This record gives sequence, structure tokens and C-alpha cells, in this order.
Amino acid sequence: RLITGYRGRFAPSPTGPLHFGSLVTAVASHADARAHGGEWLVRIEDLDRPREVAGAARAILDTLAAFGMRHDGPVCYQHDRLTAYDAALARLAARGLTYPCGCSRAEIAHRAARGDEGPIYPGTCRAGLPPGRAPRTIRMRTDSIPVEFDDRVFGPCTQNLEQAVGDFVLHRADAIHAYQLAVVVDDAWQGIDQVVRGADLLDSTPRQIWLQRALNLPQPRYAHVPLVLDPEGRKLSKRLAAAPVDPADPLPALHRAWAFLGQPPPPPHCTLQRFWEHATAHWRIERVPQTRRAPLPADQ
Ligand code: GLU
Repeated sequence: RLITGYRGRFAPSPTGPLHFGSLVTAVASHADARAHGGEWLVRIEDLDRPREVAGAARAILDTLAAFGMRHDGPVCYQHDRLTAYDAALARLAARGLTYPCGCSRAEIAHRAARGDEGPIYPGTCRAGLPPGRAPRTIRMRTDSIPVEFDDRVFGPCTQNLEQAVGDFVLHRADAIHAYQLAVVVDDAWQGIDQVVRGADLLDSTPRQIWLQRALNLPQPRYAHVPLVLDPEGRKLSKRLAAAPVDPADPLPALHRAWAFLGQPPPPPHCTLQRFWEHATAHWRIERVPQTRRAPLPADQ
């Protein structure tokens, strides 16, 4: 089925070279876009400059090209987009949807219950900064009406933001815009209507939908694909120095990523071009395992 006007994206953070876990996400979003005759954009999520590894963005882009994944349009770099994030913050503030918060992480950890993703902010600064406190972060107000969406892999999902995460940070104490804000502003700016990404972000999606509604931005469709776990059961991450995929020998890793995503095997010994022809013709998102995490395939 053709989704008309399909525009998808891959949005890596440049904290290291592409490893098998990020390859799986790239392959899923690229195959889904191409199978729908859609566009596929790349955005480098380099807001967190202190965590950026020099040369990683270039290495990721070169690896995508070596794996036969060509992006449409120019690459978006989030470090170029700070004024757009500030404008979004100003719009939310003008509507009274945000507030400055003076609490430190340690204070919150001490006082708060734990939610899906760390401590739930107890609302200390909600009604105004307590006397003598300086603002550290800017938070987005939440409420208890469930945010619902229909994930293309996981089906109906719902989250009560107030209970699960609480009022969340949009501008961090280190003066960096939060991922949740930037991703929403940029998905809309790039005209993204289909998001395919790792299932670690399933629980972030309601926050992003909440922000889209507050900013009057269209809501993309979402599909979350399983994260790859290493043999010790940890998420493969650049931080844990997961082995990079080899740009000089893309096919074995592509075959493994394809199998991990539950898709039917391409012909053996095929070329890169043949692999992507097969992938475009045979990709079915319904075959992606409906699980948040799955172990690394054996010979990886
Ligand atoms: N930059 C995020 C990551 O590398 C992905 C964000 C997204 O796809 O929304 O995990």
C-alpha cells in the first residue's frame, strides 16, 4: 500500500560510528520509506556538543552511503537550528505552558517517585519559583489525560504523562535544548510524516505528541523497532563501544539486520543494489517483532 506523501527520516546522534543497533534502525526507516515510494531524510542530532565525538557525523554519513542508503535533500544539523528551538520555547511560554524550575537533579531524585524514565518531577516550582531560587531549567506542564497513539508495530499505546514522567524539561540546566523539544520542532520543519526508530523511544512519543499539540504541529505516524541487545543483555550503544559496522563489507551486516527485523531473506550472494531492490519489494512492517528488545543475532 502506498502512503502518499511519505517522508521519513533517520536521526542519529554523533556520539560514535554506526554500530549494528543503529544500522537496524537505519535499515528499517530506509526500507519503509523506499517501500512506500517515499523520501528519506537524515538529521544529525548534535545538540549535546559535549557528548559529540569528533568525526562521528561524517563517519555515520559515509557508512550510510557505503550501505546503499542514500538520503534525499540536505542533511539537517541540529546545531544550526537553535533559534527555531528558542522560538518554540517562546511560543509555549506565551501560552503559559512552561515554567522555570530551580530544582537540581539531586533534589528531585531525593523527593520524587520513580517513573518509566527516571524520577517523576514532583511539581515543586509549578506554581512559581520558590523565593531565593534561580531558574535552572524550563519545564513543560503535563496533565493526567492519557495521550494515545497507534504505533505501526506496537499497536495502540497510551501514557498518562503526569503519572509516568511529570512536567518534563525542555531547556536543560547546561543551557542545551532538550531532545524532546528539538525532535518535535525538526520533524515538523522537515515535513516528516513517518517516524521509524528504536523502541527505546516508545515512551518518549507521548511527550512529543503533547508538544506537537501545544505547538499546533502535525503528528507523524510512529513505528518503533526492537533494540539490539549485546550478549550481556545491554542495549548496544556507542557509549559502550559496540563494534562499528564495516563500511567496506556492508552485505553481511545488512543481511543480519534484515533478519533481525523479521524480513524474508534476500537472494544469497546478491549485490548491494539487488539487496535494496529486494528490500524495497519485500519490506512488511507487520513482520517486525513486536518486542522492545531482542538479542544480537548469533555471529555478530
Ligand atoms: N537521536 C536519537 C538517537 O540516536 C534518535 C531520535 C529519534 O529517532 O527520534 O537515539
